[in-house]
Amino acid sequence: AKSAGGNRFETADAEADARAITRHGLTNALPAALERGEFFIEYQPLVHLGDGSVHGAEALVRWCHPQHGVLGPDRFIPLAEHTGLIVPLGRWVLEESVRQARFWQKRHSDGGPLHINVNLSPMQLHHPGLVSDTVEVLERAGLEPSALCLEVTESALIGADDDLLKPLRRLAEMGVDIALDDFGTGYSNLANLRRLPVSVLKLDRSFTRSMQQRPADAVDLKIVEGIVSLAHSLDLGVTVEGVETGAQAAQLRELGCDTAQGWYYARPGAPDRIHTLLLADAV
Ligand code: C2E
Ligand code: CA
Ligand code: CA
Ligand code: CA
Repeated sequence: AKSAGGNRFETADAEADARAITRHGLTNALPAALERGEFFIEYQPLVHLGDGSVHGAEALVRWCHPQHGVLGPDRFIPLAEHTGLIVPLGRWVLEESVRQARFWQKRHSDGGPLHINVNLSPMQLHHPGLVSDTVEVLERAGLEPSALCLEVTESALIGADDDLLKPLRRLAEMGVDIALDDFGTGYSNLANLRRLPVSVLKLDRSFTRSMQQRPADAVDLKIVEGIVSLAHSLDLGVTVEGVETGAQAAQLRELGCDTAQGWYYARPGAPDRIHTLLLADAV
């Protein structure tokens, strides 16, 4: 802000500098933040589109930064990926949310199996401890593997060779569900799907968004219809994310999607919230 003339290039530079400094500062602060327990998890319910009952919850990490307040994962997950801190951070998220899921299960033993969905970064996929860490976390919490769903983005698996798929296959053999997150955003080689040890497709929010239009985008409707029929013929479930209105939910139910997630049902929130929804038996 040294030139009163307000040279916009200088301003843009200053903003870029500020962003870079913040990024740099945030990156440096990550390890201590993990040690000090500044991360916490919000849970968002996954609901059966058929009857509105709770299928499970997705764990979404946040950082309660002492100066900047609560930061969303888009602000720091890429930084953690870059430095490798995502491995211990991801392990913490897994451990914490599996423990939480076991706690819900114990208090709602009549409610059927409750699933916990945890996001995995590409770097975690490459980490040799993935399978043993996961087994250990499940055993320690006493949660059955079939209650866990690991979400991997489609882009992380594009061009994946057998070495990368082996740990996921081992987990799938144990009964852990693998979901393909943000499905439909990468250039999906649909034939490739058969090769992947996935059991669920999570349709990207962009499809849900186009259901909002009146009338809904005809091409997107056809695409979703096609994905659902392909998924079901391969014995895969379809979850839709970003459902914000009842009209979207109705449309997606009509199209045959199985489970849904979005603000229409509930925003991500504290674990108590899931507890309350389970008590109510539906969202
Ligand atoms: P994602 O896995 O695609 O998660 C869904 C995102 O959509 C979440 O954003 C969620 O809060 C948001 N969302 C849910 N319902 C709605 C809705 O109805 N409308 C709209 N507009 N948004 C909705 P969030 O929590 O900011 O997370 C962003 C991304 O950060 C996630 O996208 C995921 O890729 C990543 N992430 C979150 N937690 C973790 C984690 O523990 N580990 C890793 N590796 N990545 C994580
Ligand atoms: Ca996800
Ligand atoms: Ca997603
Ligand atoms: Ca996403």
